[in-house]
Amino acid sequence: MKNIIEKLIENKIFQSVEIETKDIIISEEILSYCKANKCGKYNTNWTCPPAIPSIYQLKEQYNRYSTALIYNIIYPLEDSFDWDGMLGALKDSNNTANKIAKYLHTLKLDFKVLKSGSCDICDKCTYPDNPCKHPDIAYPPLEAYGINVMELAKKFNLNYYNGVNTITYFTIFFYNHE
Ligand code: SF4
Repeated sequence: MKNIIEKLIENKIFQSVEIETKDIIISEEILSYCKANKCGKYNTNWTCPPAIPSIYQLKEQYNRYSTALIYNIIYPLEDSFDWDGMLGALKDSNNTANKIAKYLHTLKLDFKVLKSGSCDICDKCTYPDNPCKHPDIAYPPLEAYGINVMELAKKFNLNYYNGVNTITYFTIFFYNHE
């Protein structure tokens, strides 16, 4: 799985590392940010709390996978107030993960994903009135799983900060070795 994912985005990926899922630290503090709606996405889509399972159920789902591939992509910004650039970068990071997920589905591989930011696949999320339109590729953000991305990067020697006028987004694919 690692080779397939890295090959799919070899022109974008900056760093990647394959780790054991059990080595990922879950932070109660990060989870509390969701409930406090720090990012403004709480209760707005099918990939964020309270729509997703509780962290304990999520952990159960993700811990079925022994292995996790973390990768990051760096994006240039015009300056540190370039909000459009940041949103565009987030969109690209998520589109990239979606493309990988779609391809892995065609291979009938079993996996899960945590991405940067909440789902933005549809122009307008169907939440809460109608079911998710793309449940096969709508995955939760890293933070909803209680991941402190800065700490995660530090622990596995990945660069969280990559210089002025850049932003770096992270994605994790979970799977079992065949
Ligand atoms: S795929 Fe569409 S309906 Fe589903 S969570 Fe994402 S934005 Fe909402």
